[in-house]
Amino acid sequence: MKLPEKILYAHEHTTIDLSGPKKNIDCRLDDFDATAAEYRRLAEHGVVGIIDQTNRGMGRNVAYVQKMAAQAGVEITHATGYYKEPFLPPECYTLTEQQLCDIMVKELTEGIEGTGVRATVIGEIGTSKDITETEAKVFRAASRAHAETGAPICTHTTLGTRGLEQLEIFKSFGVDLSRVVLSHIDLSADLDYMKRLLDQGVNIAFDTIGKCNYQPDVSRADWLSRLCAEGYDTQIVMSMDITRRSNFADRGGVGYSYLLDTFAPLASEAGVPDRAWENLLYRNALRIYKGQK
Ligand SMILES: [Zn+2]
Repeated sequence: MKLPEKILYAHEHTTIDLSGPKKNIDCRLDDFDATAAEYRRLAEHGVVGIIDQTNRGMGRNVAYVQKMAAQAGVEITHATGYYKEPFLPPECYTLTEQQLCDIMVKELTEGIEGTGVRATVIGEIGTSKDITETEAKVFRAASRAHAETGAPICTHTTLGTRGLEQLEIFKSFGVDLSRVVLSHIDLSADLDYMKRLLDQGVNIAFDTIGKCNYQPDVSRADWLSRLCAEGYDTQIVMSMDITRRSNFADRGGVGYSYLLDTFAPLASEAGVPDRAWENLLYRNALRIYKGQK
């Protein structure tokens, strides 16, 4: 097995704070030096970029992230949008669909909170197990913002569910599904469902690697190899989606480089062909998130 020379992590949170609603301080990532050490290790493995999916209401902090990018020597891009209930800020309830769209468009075209740094993705916009009214409103606003700007969209699915319903909303607005990623689909544990999504032209993410309390990695490796064998490797992106301090290597967690130094060999063993890694770890994310072939 040989991993690509350049790698993009498709779904991370350089700093995030979900500790309020989750009532757990572990869900706040704000240890700058610890993250810098993890990201530097990624850079040594060939990671050139990280698609940061932290948005409004998740504790997004552009200055912090850009300082991190400089220190770690990786490019980090930003997201606009809103996560899911109960993490939606008050504006999601008080503003109209069009006003929420306008906020996203402004962050994509002018910059985030006066920094002049633009968001490059609408993400991660999420649904609960049952899609709530306000979550659906965010999805419609995001679809409008995509129509106006052409920006890619990344969604959060709760344990992989409601992907088909998410696509229905996007299709009703004519969203280009080749620029959409549905996250956490590896948690669905349902290969037929994964293929039903992929057959519509959307991309899916295997981005909960190492979270074996949800699904064992041997299963992830098996699904991935079956999907690659059927030619779906051009529609899958990968990441760790680390949101807890306890997942860091220095706290006894798997650490960010686990995807590359532990999972990739396991998946290779399970049958993911050598030719697929360039797509899975670099090309697909480059095409979707940076509009490059
Ligand atoms: Zn995430």
